[in-house]
Amino acid sequence: MAETCLFCRIVRGEIPATVVASTDDAIAFRDIDPKAPVHVLVVPRQHLSSLNEATDPSLVGRLMALGAEVARKEGIADTGYRLVINTNEHGGQTVNHLHIHVLGGRAMRWPPG
Ligand code: AMP
Ligand code: ZN
Repeated sequence: MAETCLFCRIVRGEIPATVVASTDDAIAFRDIDPKAPVHVLVVPRQHLSSLNEATDPSLVGRLMALGAEVARKEGIADTGYRLVINTNEHGGQTVNHLHIHVLGGRAMRWPPG
């Protein structure tokens, strides 16, 4: 699974990505098909299929903190931004490796579709 997983391959450097931040246990890179002027994905280096597999709350906290750090670096912290985790089919998850979307640079609609 981790062998062929798209985001594991990006983490290993086998597939190129525009990395904007990196820590011991996560990387953040630009989404290839951005849905907002700023659209960055925060991804744990460890393969976890979804939030359902994220049993370490401190890791989840570090991922969210990195999302906030990315927002600061991208200059959208003050205007505002949204962190999104899509989970499984009804959540709209298409890549089965846990990731947090950092979306900003424009007003986000609410509620989502
Ligand atoms: P989700 O639908 O929540 O699973 O989000 C998956 C995201 O990964 C989508 O927003 C895609 O545009 C993005 N994506 C797919 N392939 C790549 C890639 N090679 N590099 C960066 N982002 C990607
Ligand atoms: Zn993976």
